[in-house]
Amino acid sequence: RDQGLGSWPARRARMAPERTALIFEGRATSYGDLAERVARLARALRGRGISPGDRVAYLGPNHPAFLETLFATAAAGAVFVPLNFRLAGPELEYILDDCGAEMLVYAPDQAPLVAGLDVRVRHLVSLAEDYEDLLTEGRPELLDETVGHDDVCMIMYTSGTTGVPKGAMLTHGNLTWNCVNVLLDIDLTRDEVTLVSAPMFHAAALGMTCLPTFIKGGAAVIMPSFSPDGAFDLIEKHRVTFMFGVPAMFAAMSQAPRWADADLSSVRILECGGAPVPGALIETYRERGLTFLQGYGMTEAAPGVLFLGPEAADRVGSAGKASFFTEARLVGPDGSPPPAGEPGEIQVRGPNVMKGYWKRPDATREVFAEGAWFRSGDAAYLDDEGFFYIYDRIKDMIISGGENIYPAEVERALAGDPAVAECAVIGVPDETWGEVGKAFVVPREGIALEPGRLLESLAGKLAKYKIPKYVEVVDALPRGGSGKVLKQHLRRS
Ligand code: ATP
Ligand code: MG
Repeated sequence: RDQGLGSWPARRARMAPERTALIFEGRATSYGDLAERVARLARALRGRGISPGDRVAYLGPNHPAFLETLFATAAAGAVFVPLNFRLAGPELEYILDDCGAEMLVYAPDQAPLVAGLDVRVRHLVSLAEDYEDLLTEGRPELLDETVGHDDVCMIMYTSGTTGVPKGAMLTHGNLTWNCVNVLLDIDLTRDEVTLVSAPMFHAAALGMTCLPTFIKGGAAVIMPSFSPDGAFDLIEKHRVTFMFGVPAMFAAMSQAPRWADADLSSVRILECGGAPVPGALIETYRERGLTFLQGYGMTEAAPGVLFLGPEAADRVGSAGKASFFTEARLVGPDGSPPPAGEPGEIQVRGPNVMKGYWKRPDATREVFAEGAWFRSGDAAYLDDEGFFYIYDRIKDMIISGGENIYPAEVERALAGDPAVAECAVIGVPDETWGEVGKAFVVPREGIALEPGRLLESLAGKLAKYKIPKYVEVVDALPRGGSGKVLKQHLRRS
């Protein structure tokens, strides 16, 4: 009867209560214990007046309480709102106000920030002080609440890479179908030990690692904040078999001193996505004999859309084809499918695509084309066998002398240079060409970077008009919570 995510821990516990669901700071929690805590918390939420449809927000780094609150909120028929703990006070006030949260559960580190917020949240629950008490308020039997696949489970805010974050309403069905896609694509098993290293408030960590691991009955190793050494430690200690990461995370691991002798023998699958994946990065992991898969997705699709499986591993640079239950198409500037090799916008349809943006009927209408196709805002091309290659965001495209330049393509070329650790390209105004490219480059440690030589090395790799006119050497790039470069910060700099 109950179809919602809130019943997942109990369903798993029914089959194998002793099996490990979570590992956090060396401590394991079984599915039986997780199910009991979730049932108690759900009843406690109900006891505090949280009704079906009410919003319960969570603010803090990766922690088991994040998942307990998610499942308990779902079990109570309420709506979970994960918050980005890197946001500043006014940004959080905006989101808490926008979603109208009734309750905010927050981690100790966020206490000073929360104390300074001007918001009308009825219940503030501190993990350090109130949370365990709250758990004792409820009985350990699951609430008798009917939740359907069409009910909203979560309002997940987009990363805000291109502007103000938008609240994507993800239903229980959206999240479930995404898990089914992931399980079919990646072949996760019940013996998976999954490292959850990206922040769970973003769609990728939750949708690509935690939820598929739980629905299958594997174990999730929860990492509060990512560092290459921390990841190597956990991989070795818990014999991790699967990990999802954004390119910046995998790049940092491969550039760390420990890369050479870390024991990665337990790792079965690595999956990279969320931002353009440089070919050089793929090669680095392949050379080490690791299965390095790629995916493309977005918050609004809960989040998986495209997947490049092992059978197509030689297509370096492709994000693959649509996941099993999802459809993707390319729409050219004139509204029809472009020929192979020509750019168009990726549009997505399927049971994992969101219901709409919370309280934004206009934005929702704008983003859905006829026939329920979601406009991703990303440009891509297809090869003649139907594999997608993502160029970049349409918004980030540079138009120089009438030619379109996708910064991601230029970034990939720059990243191939041995002196370049990281880079980002934006368009800057130019009297002659309208716009020209400007590259921000972080040099690799110990290697001198000479901008003139760097640009010369691009000749022959890129068409002349795509080669940036300016290079600025910087210490670091401004990045958002999911590791993506915040280009609007570079544009303002
Ligand atoms: P906002 O919508 O608020 O501007 P955002 O789009 O960065 O932020 P997310 O939903 O977290 O928020 O990210 C989805 C976007 O990430 C995609 O639309 C795409 O631009 C980018 N992306 C995801 N995977 C890939 C990939 N494999 N290659 C290139 N880009 C990717
Ligand atoms: Mg987006």
